Amino acid sequence: VAAQPGPVTTGTATTEDGTRIELLANINLLAELPLAKKMGAAGIGLYRTEFPFLVRPSFPSETEQFLVYRQVVEAMEGRPVVFRTLDIGGEKTLAYTDTAMEPNPELGLRSIRFTLAYRDIFEQQVRAILRAAAGSRHLGIMFPLIASLDDFLQARQVVTDCLERLAADGLEHHDHPDIGMMVELPAVVETMAEFAAEADFFAIGSNDFVQYMLGVDRSNKRVADYYRPEHPSVLRALRRVVKIAGEHDKPISICGEMGHDPAMIPFLLGIGIRRLSIDPQFMPAVHRRISVLTIDACREQARELTAAGSLRAVKAILEP
Ligand code: PEP
Ligand code: MG
Repeated sequence: VAAQPGPVTTGTATTEDGTRIELLANINLLAELPLAKKMGAAGIGLYRTEFPFLVRPSFPSETEQFLVYRQVVEAMEGRPVVFRTLDIGGEKTLAYTDTAMEPNPELGLRSIRFTLAYRDIFEQQVRAILRAAAGSRHLGIMFPLIASLDDFLQARQVVTDCLERLAADGLEHHDHPDIGMMVELPAVVETMAEFAAEADFFAIGSNDFVQYMLGVDRSNKRVADYYRPEHPSVLRALRRVVKIAGEHDKPISICGEMGHDPAMIPFLLGIGIRRLSIDPQFMPAVHRRISVLTIDACREQARELTAAGSLRAVKAILEP
């Protein structure tokens, strides 16, 4: 007797053949938390911390950040939360910094490069996150736009230093965060094994990964036709990254827009993705999409797709 479909909105979707796929929420604003909870998200797979920075006229203090982050932790009632450290620059500019003045901001002092350059801002944020998660079982801290293992180790050292100082100061905090990184740059692909030996978890930021892999501005409509998540190089690189993470037993999710694209979900499951972090409004549709798939068929499609050498060949598989 076929099992009755469960409630549409839970944090676990199940394929037709019984494989469980964890569904987490992407959150930009506190106002989005109720929907994430209503949809039954298993946790927050990506909290974009730049939003508290974007709405203020100057850098928020550690205390101001703590108060915002604490609301995220409390709202999720023990479910895991992954905080992404400040990802400004590129398309997210702060009026009170000079990153907008760069001639080529997507390739400039953005994201982890900015926070490594302004260590005090980075430390304030990390302290605020660690303090906000005091008492919670699971905390993830994740760095965006990591290009080299050296970047990752430097950023992780900042967290380690903050942990030591919070302990020395006797301030309540979360003392065992998982420390992970986003896969957003092609530079990560060739050194993925080294990253996988160090990072606790990975999240594929497909929006930026596609932009940098293909050299196409993700927000420029004039080149929108060139922005192709299904490009063979993107697909092969993703397959490789997921495989290496799996060989090291390191969890890997996808948190870019590709994760809710019905055309791409079979491919993602086929290469081994078992965790999707998506905007909560997509959760019911993603549930339904997953429920009609079998892992064997997804693997077969992924094999075909990664053998295809052109966009045209990919299209013939995706739209037979
Ligand atoms: C991404 O790049 O896919 C991502 C999730 O980060 P953002 O969209 O915030 O750059
Ligand atoms: Mg990104």
